[in-house]
This record gives sequence, C-alpha cells and structure tokens, in this order.
Amino acid sequence: GARVVIVGAGHAGGSAAAFLRQYGFAGAITLIGEEPIAPYQRPPLSKAWLKGEADADALMLKPESYYSEHNVDLRLSAVAVAIDRAARTVTLGDGGTVAYDHLILATGARARRLPIPGATLGNMLELRNAADAERVKAILGPGKRLAIVGGGYIGLEVAASARALGAEAVIIEREARVLARVACQPLSAFFQDYHSARGVTFELDAGVEAFEGETNVTGVRLSDGRVLPCDAALVGVGAVPNDEMARAAGLACDGGIVVDLAARTSDPAIFAIGDVTRRPLPLYDRMHRLESVPNALEQAKQAACAITGKAAPAPEVPWFWSDQFDLKLQIAGLPFDVEEIVIRGNPADAKFAVFHLKAGVIVAVEAVNAPPEFMMGKNLIGSRKPVSIDKLRNPTVSMKEVAA
Ligand code: FAD
Repeated sequence: GARVVIVGAGHAGGSAAAFLRQYGFAGAITLIGEEPIAPYQRPPLSKAWLKGEADADALMLKPESYYSEHNVDLRLSAVAVAIDRAARTVTLGDGGTVAYDHLILATGARARRLPIPGATLGNMLELRNAADAERVKAILGPGKRLAIVGGGYIGLEVAASARALGAEAVIIEREARVLARVACQPLSAFFQDYHSARGVTFELDAGVEAFEGETNVTGVRLSDGRVLPCDAALVGVGAVPNDEMARAAGLACDGGIVVDLAARTSDPAIFAIGDVTRRPLPLYDRMHRLESVPNALEQAKQAACAITGKAAPAPEVPWFWSDQFDLKLQIAGLPFDVEEIVIRGNPADAKFAVFHLKAGVIVAVEAVNAPPEFMMGKNLIGSRKPVSIDKLRNPTVSMKEVAA
C-alpha cells in the first residue's frame, strides 16, 4: 500500500493523520515530531492553560491511544533533517531514513527572535510550544514583573493571563498601536483601553535596544534610554515559517512553502499544510501565509482528500479567535483593500463588531463578544453578497435581516 510520511506532529500534522484514517486511507502513516509529546493544541498555552484553567490532557488533539489504535506510527523527539526527492525518502537526525509515496510537510513556524544584546539571558521567554509555556507559567505569579515585547495576539493574551495570576505586565510595542499588523485602529484602541483598565501598562512607539542583566534579565532598555525593570521578558514579535528543509530540497518557497488548494507543493508527491505554507486565498485573489487553527485543519483536509482521491473541499473563509480577560474576539476574513469600515454596536459596552467592506461587500469582520456578527459576517464574506450599510450599522436590525 501507499506510504504517507508526515513531518511535524503539530496541529496540522496530527489532524492530517486523523483525516487520512477518517477518509479510509489504509496505507502506512508515519508521523514524525520533534517535540516529546503527541500532537496538541497551542491556543490554550497563552490563555486557559497559562491561567491554570485547563490541564495538559485537555490540550491533546487525540487521546494517547489514538495513534496505536489507528495504526499511526508516531515517532516523537524525532527530527527530519533532509528530503531526498529522487529517492523519496526523509532523513532523520539520527541518520535513519523513512521512505514515502506521499510526504506531508507540517513543520509550522517558530518564534522570531530579536538580534539584540541580552537576548539569551536567563528568564528571556518566547511562546510557541508546550516547553516554552511551562517556562512562562513557572515565572508568573503575584508581584512578578513581566515585560512583553510585541503587542500582537500572543503579547496581549499573555498580558491578560499574567494579570489574572497577579503579575505585573508591560507591553512594549514598536508601532503606535497594539495589533497594528493584524487589526484595525478602533479594535486596537479598544483592546489597549481594556487592558489598561485592568492594570496592563503600555510603551508604544518604543524601540528595544537591549535586555539587561547579569545571568537573568533584569530590565529592558528602550531607545529613549529608559530601562524598564522586569523579572522576565517575553518576546512575541511574530513567527517565521520552518521552510528551510523544503527550500534545501528545491521546493518552491516564498516566505513559506508555496502550495495550491490541494495543499500540493511544486513536487506533486509532496504536500505542505499549516503555518509553514503560503497558500492561495481564492476570495481575495492572492497568496498568503495564515497562522491559525482553522487554516491548519482546512489544509490537513485538502491534503488528505488529494491523497485519498476525494474531491477537494470547498475553500473556507479564513477565521481566527483570541480570548483576553472576559473578551472573546472572533475574526473572519482578511482586511485587504478595504474602502469602508462600519462599526456595529458600542465598544464601551465591550460588545461590538467592526466590518470591513470593499465595493459594498464585507471582506472581514472583527467581532468582540458578538457571535452573531461573526457568524453571519463570515457567511456574507463567503457569499460576497452586497449588504446595506445602513442596516449593518444599526444594531436594532438583526444580523439575519442584514444578510437577507
Ligand atoms: P504547529 O502546531 O506549530 O506544529 C508544528 C510542529 O512541527 C511542531 O511540533 C514542531 O516541533 C514540529 N517540527 C518542526 N520542524 C520539524 C522537523 N524538521 N522534524 C520534526 N518535527 C518538526 N490559532 C488560532 O486559530 N486561535 C488562537 O487563539 C491561537 N492561539 C495561539 C496561541 C499560541 C501561544 C500559539 C503558539 C499559537 C496560537 N495559534 C492560534 C496558532 C495555531 O496554534 C497554529 O496556527 C497551529 O498550531 C498551526 O499548526 P501547524 O501544525 O502548522 O504548526
């Protein structure tokens, strides 16, 4: 029978193995993962798990027994180092090789690092995997001061969790607002205010020159010369795709492994899925790299369908969520070429949605504690149906009526 080898036992890789079995694939599946644990979910690492509201078992994608029961050869603490496309083998760090008929690359992304002095001091933190999260958790506690470099989702989520654990948190952001890369101005303002009211402090438009300390970090030196004292510093300034092995093997890459809507790379025997890919977004007519669980699942399905000869699944509207304090942020679509922004509801009520429109059509929605706006907004993005701005702006008109 056919042999599938999956490199990367994260959200995408673990899901691909499960979809293959679900779709009736009866050949051999080898799932190779660098981490010592079976596939797990990362989102709680900065949220419920960090606050102590979810245990490690709750993070697992599948129960431990799933892999042997479904004949998935799960090899943990194993790293793939090279692909031989002619021989169709993957070389492992211990020198062994694994042969494939179909290879799925699901190597994810790693935390971007800052090339500045002090970056390797003790108590310098990043948050990408369970081991990182253990270190962050071990340091947070009442009275501890955490400096967070980067006001993106991870930075804000960790700040909220730190406050819940009684720690101090300061967010240092190079841009003039938090979430500058990923969200609109009204949303940035709302989140900053919400965090400020709960004791998080902010340094915006702030460059970081160095981390200071002897063995452990004791302060963050800003470009204006000030030093912010801290017991630990977390760097959350984005992620870099782990596409080096694919590049070395000659696969087309462009800030991520380039794939089509069947998750195929430039080599038809090799698929790539999850954070490591640059994929087509048919709704937006462009290529993009997404970092989200729904994307990892969608591409895992695409690859499993292609390998099992099933029709490709219909493209989904990209979406994402983030939890901070008692806020549930849900985002659908991507705000490309936006011509108009409509705010529905009042940010002061901590229940509102920001719609992004182009030519009368919703292309993205950011919904705070507003599930109907998210759900209906997501549907409208997918259908590209023009909407009445007046109705959309008026919260007394139901989303159902807006969509009608
Ligand atoms: P990963 O899950 O990162 O898995 C990649 C795996 O491949 C890793 O285990 C890695 O060790 C392994 N690997 C890499 N190279 C090799 C190699 N050469 N050999 C063997 N193994 C290798 N998404 C959301 O939608 N909502 C959220 O709220 C959210 N919160 C998040 C919070 C945190 C703290 C983090 C880190 C991510 C969050 N995400 C969230 C993003 C989401 O977790 C990722 O998009 C998702 O995990 C991507 O899956 P993946 O399989 O591509 O990568």
